[in-house]
Amino acid sequence: PPRLRFAPSPTGYLHLGGLRTALFNHLFARSLGGKWILRIEDTDQTRLVPGSVAALQETLAWANLHYDEGPSAGGSHGPYIQSERLDLYRHYAEKLISEGKAYRDFRAEVVASTDSANFTKQVPLRDTYIAPDESEAKHLISLNKPYVVRLRAPTTSLDHTDLVYGSIHFPSDPLRHGTEDPILLKSNLWPTYHLASVVDDHLMGITHVLRGEEWLPSLPKHLWLYQALGFRPPEFAHLPLLVNADGSKLSKRSGDVRVESYRDKGIEAEALCNFVGLMGYNNLRYHEGKRREEEVDGAGLDVLTMGEMVKGFRIEDVNRSRASVDLSKLYYLNARHLGLKLGEAEGRKQVVSRIRGRLEEAFPEAKQRFKDDAEVAKVVELTRGTCATLFDVPQSAIPLFRRPSWTPHPPPDTLSLFRHSKLIHTHFTRALSTAHQEFSALPPSNWTHDSIHAVIASLPRLLSNASIPPNDSNAPKTKIKKAAILAPLRFAISACERGAPLADLFLFLGRDESLERLRAALD
Ligand code: GLU
Repeated sequence: PPRLRFAPSPTGYLHLGGLRTALFNHLFARSLGGKWILRIEDTDQTRLVPGSVAALQETLAWANLHYDEGPSAGGSHGPYIQSERLDLYRHYAEKLISEGKAYRDFRAEVVASTDSANFTKQVPLRDTYIAPDESEAKHLISLNKPYVVRLRAPTTSLDHTDLVYGSIHFPSDPLRHGTEDPILLKSNLWPTYHLASVVDDHLMGITHVLRGEEWLPSLPKHLWLYQALGFRPPEFAHLPLLVNADGSKLSKRSGDVRVESYRDKGIEAEALCNFVGLMGYNNLRYHEGKRREEEVDGAGLDVLTMGEMVKGFRIEDVNRSRASVDLSKLYYLNARHLGLKLGEAEGRKQVVSRIRGRLEEAFPEAKQRFKDDAEVAKVVELTRGTCATLFDVPQSAIPLFRRPSWTPHPPPDTLSLFRHSKLIHTHFTRALSTAHQEFSALPPSNWTHDSIHAVIASLPRLLSNASIPPNDSNAPKTKIKKAAILAPLRFAISACERGAPLADLFLFLGRDESLERLRAALD
């Protein structure tokens, strides 16, 4: 059965690119009916950030990316943390040496290159170094001479088929494709990423390696290692990089890349997964599947649950071009996922528990009301259209709990709304007083969504008729459009230009409060 792995290095917090790699591993594994594991690649001890493994696990759990095996999840292929597997890597390195496929390099500059914190590819290329034979090497080791272990890399070119990038030719030119003899063990006898990753992918039974494009250049090294070790290589699929809108590399400097910062802002995990799941992915297949249900709202086709993504996922639909991050899309998806969550019991409960405290804090006078889950959910429902995230709800909820203050008068700039509306000021006043009159006529027992809605719907007609002078049948008819009434009405009761559907708003406020606000706006 297919086995995949997400193999982060605990060098900080999970960023968007890492989340996308984890998500695609999840989607790919599940769509193949397979499993995925979490492996912690901590062999570069100089780059470790304490606490990052726990933070990473927490973030994956938050994102609903549940791995089948890994640290704390257990499994039969552990340990899943590379620093606990050092003997294995040393064993394979020794094996390669004894078979003449690797050698010990004692040169000071080579050894030194692996001690530094930024150990990179700056190792001398294949050259004239003649590695000591094993007895000489033993002697040097007994004198405590440090060394590194290097693979004898072939000089031939290499062809490979990547599941995303298709067939790739790696020429034999050593300068262009780094065919230096790769280092397998550093001078402290810890493995390099290359050795550890190949050994583990083999021992952990990984069938598909899905990782970032930045690892594509390392592929020849890995393929040589598989060959030298006599292991059968897995399939490889590389994901195109995420970039900023201007094409530059997505980095910590370029704004918010930490997954946790999205969680802390109140973004829904489902929305963030949906968002990164669309990055560099050709989602036409999803659209075909969803079109029938949601054909009215074209944009809604991109709103995908984890289950829908699993169902539609095909590795061949991953794009090769780099995906740019457009956060406005995230906020759109977020509002949609918030709506989906409110629509089902578990999700609603979760949303309520995340926002209750903030609402209580913002509106202490309504504290009692927030004891009721349904009330909290209703506040979210009424405000989410004007919120980017759940945590914006208290701000958007102000009109639900506080009267607009018109004293002494509405600020002049807000009046532009009315000036632009088809109603001139006197009409506005008449619209409000008519509304007040009609709403007053509704008895408290009939303060229902339907009746409120009917009153609102009747206003344009009432006002249009009223504007025809009764004795002059030749006077031009003034037809008053609904929008020209709704906007001022909304403004009068909430001092906002946008918000919940009006009838919902009136219903939430209740009859007394609604009438009072209409009256106050008329003063
Ligand atoms: N440890 C590598 C990283 O942090 C993973 C590379 C791979 O998946 O092979 O990106």
